[in-house]
Amino acid sequence: MNQLSHFIDGQNVTGNSGRFGDIFNPATGEVQAHVPFASESEVDDAVQSAGQAQVSWAGTNPQRRARVMMEFVRLLQRDMDKLAATLSREHGKTLADARGDVQRGLEVAEFCIGTPHLLKGEFTASAGSGIDMYSMRQPIGVAAGITPFNFPAMIPIWKLAPAISCGNAFILKPSERDPSVPLMLAELMQEAGLPDGILQVINGDKQTVDAILGHPDIGAVGFVGSTPVAQAVYSQATAAGKRAQCFGGAKNHMVIMPDADLDQAVDALVGAGYGAAGERCMAVSVAVPVGENTANDLISRLIPRVENLKVGPYTAGDDVDYGPLITKDAKERVLRLIESGVHEGAELVVDQRSFSLQGYENGFFVGPHLFDHVTDDMQIYREEIFGPVLSTVRADTYEDAVNLVTDNEYGNGVAIFTRDGDTARDFTDRINVGMVGINVPIPVPLAYHTFGGWKKSIFGDLNQHGIDAFRFYTRTKTVTSRWPSGIKEGAVLNFPTLD
Ligand code: NAD
Repeated sequence: MNQLSHFIDGQNVTGNSGRFGDIFNPATGEVQAHVPFASESEVDDAVQSAGQAQVSWAGTNPQRRARVMMEFVRLLQRDMDKLAATLSREHGKTLADARGDVQRGLEVAEFCIGTPHLLKGEFTASAGSGIDMYSMRQPIGVAAGITPFNFPAMIPIWKLAPAISCGNAFILKPSERDPSVPLMLAELMQEAGLPDGILQVINGDKQTVDAILGHPDIGAVGFVGSTPVAQAVYSQATAAGKRAQCFGGAKNHMVIMPDADLDQAVDALVGAGYGAAGERCMAVSVAVPVGENTANDLISRLIPRVENLKVGPYTAGDDVDYGPLITKDAKERVLRLIESGVHEGAELVVDQRSFSLQGYENGFFVGPHLFDHVTDDMQIYREEIFGPVLSTVRADTYEDAVNLVTDNEYGNGVAIFTRDGDTARDFTDRINVGMVGINVPIPVPLAYHTFGGWKKSIFGDLNQHGIDAFRFYTRTKTVTSRWPSGIKEGAVLNFPTLD
């Protein structure tokens, strides 16, 4: 059995807590590795040495830190196939999708090559007589990231690259379901020239997360995962005086207007609804056709497309559209939710509840499902399913569609498909969702914009990547300076003004 490790002070370190988790091959259902779960004292050791290493890293000029990131990008490109294969073996997503996972992370590391520019700060000459004023961005010290299973390359890089570029040391606690790629990322950072201790990968579960959140020397926590955990981590971290940004779950709608190009809309729904088995926080899980004719036409075009999706292991290459879910529990939960939809009266127009894949009967595969006539009080509408299940909620009017999206408790992504510029403009203006697509189903912003939802999809103020990441991982210090030649008056007891 393959025994995974932690990565501490530039070395792979076997854990000593005596606690381990199983890593499955989701396609076969077999356990393929064990991962150690770090104890509180192991977390403490890693934070201590990270704190010591951080001092000289923060003193390394930003251009040199950026060069490490530049080399990291090159190494990610060099090892793309190896990373993607490892990622697919643990996560189950197709190889093409795994490459996209690495690529979207790489692009944030690429953005971080601009660190010297991004950290320049602000300067005002002669803010008062003989007085200059400047603001600088200084690192937090030791920051931590807690990441989900569904993007085991992209999201760790979204956290570690900006944090480290800003001069912090970083403690990464990746998902215990697929930690091999995060461990490989740490080795690549080391090869790129990162000093020992600046990136520590600590594996574990809730107990390990609690040790991170309770550690007094960790100044900032970035979390991505499900909403209940995001909310709890945010409360715990901020109550302990840490800066926190916690990104949660989603229920993303796609509104299809009567004037939309329906073929384009169907392509978009198939890709965004079922890609990666629906295990994406930006997956479209609710189709909202406006008007009876649009709904009937959409459903009749969708059914054959969904029925013909090819489900299988990543090893089948291009013959597969999507792979298994991450665990047996995840599969059983999705199947339970499908049953609840049927029970509550939704119409299951593509029903693959009996789906089984020959030769992979113990894998965590779920066939594609399509619901019509879903209503907003049903469990399948209210909960994030995180599986290959698309729900159709029919809206009578555009206003009904807007109200449905507005009233939903999540606000990560949303899309509208229309040919009408006025409608698209009105929609983007009024909708209370963080990322909006116009004829684009998965509007994930590029690295130099920021990523984040609204409502219960986020706890905290700043988004991920783009300029917000540089704000999150630094503190502002503002200096007002005057040299002796400018000091003319005596003691001033009034509150100073510079006019
Ligand atoms: P999860 O909440 O189960 O786990 C996320 C991380 O938290 C993992 O590292 C896990 O070990 C840790 N964790 C789990 N339970 C915990 C607890 N009780 N206390 C403390 N830590 C705990 O999420 P997941 O299943 O790994 O990922 C899927 C979820 O992540 C979905 O809800 C998805 O929408 C969301 N997600 C959101 C975004 C975003 O940017 N908004 C991006 C990707 C995924």
